[in-house]
Amino acid sequence: MRIAVAGGGAAGFFAALAAREGNPDHEVTIYERSPEPLAKVVISGGGRCNVTHACFDPARLTEAYPRGGRELRGPFHRWQPADTVAWFEDRGVEIKTEPDGRMFPVTDRSRTISECLERAARAAGIPVRVRCGLAGAARRPGGGFDLRFADGSEAPCDALVLATGGNREGAGFRIAAGLGHTIVPPVPSLFTFAIRDPRLDGLAGLSSPDAEVSAPGPELRQRGPVLITHWGLSGPAVLRLSAWGARTLHDQGYRFDLEVAWVAGLAAEAAEARFRELRATEGRKQVRTWCPWELPQRLWASLVGHAGIADGTSWARLRGEEARRLARELTGGRYRVHGQSLHKEEFVTCGGVALDEVDFRTMESRIAPGLYLAGEVLDIDGITGGFNFQAAWTTGRIAGEALAAVRT
Ligand SMILES: Cc1cc2nc3c(=O)[nH]c(=O)nc-3n(C[C@H](O)[C@H](O)[C@H](O)COP(=O)(O)OP(=O)(O)OC[C@H]3O[C@@H](n4cnc5c(N)ncnc54)[C@H](O)[C@@H]3O)c2cc1C
Repeated sequence: MRIAVAGGGAAGFFAALAAREGNPDHEVTIYERSPEPLAKVVISGGGRCNVTHACFDPARLTEAYPRGGRELRGPFHRWQPADTVAWFEDRGVEIKTEPDGRMFPVTDRSRTISECLERAARAAGIPVRVRCGLAGAARRPGGGFDLRFADGSEAPCDALVLATGGNREGAGFRIAAGLGHTIVPPVPSLFTFAIRDPRLDGLAGLSSPDAEVSAPGPELRQRGPVLITHWGLSGPAVLRLSAWGARTLHDQGYRFDLEVAWVAGLAAEAAEARFRELRATEGRKQVRTWCPWELPQRLWASLVGHAGIADGTSWARLRGEEARRLARELTGGRYRVHGQSLHKEEFVTCGGVALDEVDFRTMESRIAPGLYLAGEVLDIDGITGGFNFQAAWTTGRIAGEALAAVRT
């Protein structure tokens, strides 16, 4: 059987390897549009490649996917982070876990991962044809596809794995649509919020270790570290909010009011009660220089200033109205977001091939038999932390296993 894999990324390599290693009678070729396969693996995770996440319970793992979680449940029972780690370790790549659960090669070099995949493909006898973008695929009457490439060449295949990723220019969505699939319109996910606000001026690089951010829209609330950047806000809580709200925030033109509670779980009344205690216990200390919570001093001073509390005011002299304003700043300050900007460590596409048109037991199209879909070309995306690669490894692997099982 001749299998064409369009897209030499994480999903394409895993599909090709599982198909060929599982059935050496298959002829498997990877066709890659760009000059270098696995380019995203190489740039991923700030050059370290966050391969997967240390979450080994398939049901919990699905909670990391704003889109595709339900569909991935079955696949994760068959190929989950523990399998990914074992796969790389079997090939000599040791993987470590960081305190927040992200998993990286111990070398902290993404090339360790890309080179391992390329070595495995060479060993399995899988040619990788670079600068060979798939431009079109037509179904053949007896099964299989006639492929047309951007350089004008053509090739027939019995099965096609579309693993062209989430980019709009890559032709993958157009090819899937041409074969009858619905494409959920692609929009970015995992972005940071552009905010110009005097409260954040000069504070780039500071972060609250445990904040809560919320945006208008159903359940758009996330808790975790929030980082102040030169152009607004970032950090895990913001990135998660951007993932869950990817479509809603896109539809709002990325213009909305973000509510920030700099101390998560603290209600305004509780903050005011704490201020009253401080009047008695720390009365002589200055409000501006003595923060009762774990916040960077300069951020606290900025909030105090914007609550209209004069320099030198002591806790004993803090007036009721001032305390109310400070509590509001601390527990629910509103910041106008005027756009989004890409998070350079990781970003993905929300949208892609509609999931109900794919059989997740095999990753085969329900619309065009012989067509398999894997990775970000599907309407699947995860929050930051290694979940996006895991979806690519899992769906690629399952497509490859299904193809390996086809005996001709
Ligand atoms: C900067 C950055 C950092 C990231 N870091 C992480 C991270 O650390 N951890 C994580 O889990 N996720 C990360 N991600 C997300 C992750 O890279 C993707 O989710 C993952 O690469 C998807 O794999 P894929 O194989 O589906 O697609 P891709 O990796 O995008 O691969 C698709 C391949 O198909 C090729 N292609 C496109 N069109 C055609 C065509 N018509 N014919 C032939 N080839 C074609 C492309 O050139 C590409 O090589 C990051 C993303 C970015 C942008």
